Amino acid sequence: MRKRLQRLEERKKEVARNLPLITKVIRGTFIPWYGVCKNPGCRCHRDKRYLHGPYYRISYSKGRRTHHIYVPLKKKERVKTLVDNYQKVWEGIEKISALNVEMIKLKNDKDGK
Ligand SMILES: [Zn+2]
Repeated sequence: MRKRLQRLEERKKEVARNLPLITKVIRGTFIPWYGVCKNPGCRCHRDKRYLHGPYYRISYSKGRRTHHIYVPLKKKERVKTLVDNYQKVWEGIEKISALNVEMIKLKNDKDGK
């Protein structure tokens, strides 16, 4: 059992090591979009194929409302990473939680519950 526990402990550390920093997250959806410009003579107004973009925004909910925030092109990669990190942190928490449950089960079995 000790070896089993050690292995679980190692796996937990491994998961924790690969987690993004908790300070580097955004809860939201990263959305590329295309739009028309202010020039009425531009071909983007006549044909969807010529829409400008992609531009990026994040949509996120707060209470019952959905909000959008524009993401400057320069910050696209950085912001997308923050959005992806949010998911990774939660997946990591789920994994660690499951490992902790396994460890408690093992210890319970050892103690005869
Ligand atoms: Zn245009």
